[in-house]
Amino acid sequence: MSDVTTLTPVLTKDWGVEQSWTMRAYLDGGGYAGLRAALAQAPGDVITAVKDSGLRGRGGAGFPTGMKWGFLPAPDGGPRYLVINADESEPGTCKDIPLMMASPQLLIEGAIITSYAIGCSHAFIYLRGEVVHVYRRLMRAVEEAYAAGYLGKNIMGSGFDLDITVHAGAGAYICGEETALLDSLEGRRGQPRLKPPFPAVAGLYARPTVVNNVETIASVPAILKGGPQWFREMGTERSPGFGIFSLSGHVQRPGQYEAPLGITLRRLLEMAGGIREGHELKFWTPGGSSTPIFTAEHLDIPLDYESVAAAGSMLGTRALQIFDETTSVVRAVTRWTEFYKHESCGKCTPCREGTFWLAQVLRRIEAGKGTSEDIDLLLDLCDNILGRAFCALGDGATSPITSAIKYFREEFEAGTHTPADELFPPERSSKF
Ligand code: NAD
Repeated sequence: MSDVTTLTPVLTKDWGVEQSWTMRAYLDGGGYAGLRAALAQAPGDVITAVKDSGLRGRGGAGFPTGMKWGFLPAPDGGPRYLVINADESEPGTCKDIPLMMASPQLLIEGAIITSYAIGCSHAFIYLRGEVVHVYRRLMRAVEEAYAAGYLGKNIMGSGFDLDITVHAGAGAYICGEETALLDSLEGRRGQPRLKPPFPAVAGLYARPTVVNNVETIASVPAILKGGPQWFREMGTERSPGFGIFSLSGHVQRPGQYEAPLGITLRRLLEMAGGIREGHELKFWTPGGSSTPIFTAEHLDIPLDYESVAAAGSMLGTRALQIFDETTSVVRAVTRWTEFYKHESCGKCTPCREGTFWLAQVLRRIEAGKGTSEDIDLLLDLCDNILGRAFCALGDGATSPITSAIKYFREEFEAGTHTPADELFPPERSSKF
């Protein structure tokens, strides 16, 4: 295993190259060598290579990619699909958009290799609706790939055919949930479906479908080019490889930092110039706002799936939102909760009602008008959402609240001195 703090950039290697998004620049940088290596192998061998690499889904859940591809049932003559989840919207998560802007051909090459491996002849890129500039760039890149013979019929003389459709959603956070995304792609209102069946068995148009995140698919060409062992030389045993860490908030140089999994926030902060001058770290999210927050005591936790989970949070999307001592944790948590309340799709009661009431209670604590019962009320609400919501949105909404109360209970208590009688006159029955 290599030094966990250093890496020759792979995903971000062309980000400084002039007009890196063009086919010309991509080919000049060695692009499409992974596809050539893949087409020289049987599709099953490509799946084996990705399994052996240990690549795990970069959309947040960290599910083993090769295993997911291997879940597709045996071909039955009907279509099977690849759907790339480009609906990045988790607060703090901002890696897929720059990746697609700088290197759209990398994503397309990964999509072709994946489609070849799983036997798919029509792949979709589902993009969040607001990012019109990314939509234009992807459309242009797909056109260039068709013109160069990497898409369409008989790709590179292999006999393999593939079409790619870029589809822009309408800007709903829930459409990043894979089954809501599939509903949206089929033309319906995006709401999560019951799982199982997982998309691998019954996905788009009820056909076997692989849904993978942008960064996951963009990691595939390098694995085919460098081989699974090369990939495993980076990262840790169970979380191999590299990933993009998005640092935002109170850091000197916010941005995207590509690094091996297992790097620490302390090291990433050194790369980002540290916390803004004259201030100190108070709390941070390891993987977006739906992962439990960490504090300064977690600076040396290796950012791999296992170590972050052992410390009580989740690696998620590696969206490191950094807050210094000037930030009110109650205020930050209230803002996140309002986001989840707004984005709850309304399908299930725990999430629809729960996020509404969480926001109500948090707002009054933030205003200094909470009662002595409100912290227990928040925890009780979270307890009634966690594990009872239809999809991960509800669970995610509870994470910043329960973890913030764990580490900064006194800040919540400071907003809870209103006598209950004043807030809830006896004639009102609801505690809310
Ligand atoms: P999940 O663990 O339920 O599933 C992960 C993937 O593995 C899915 O594709 C699922 O279909 C597949 N899978 C799991 N078990 C399977 C099985 N038995 N058979 C076949 N396939 C199987 O997680 P999820 O609900 O898809 O995602 C939750 C994660 O999403 C959170 O951890 C969060 O970090 C992340 N997230 C990301 C964003 C973003 O903007 N990127 C936004 C919100 C949430």
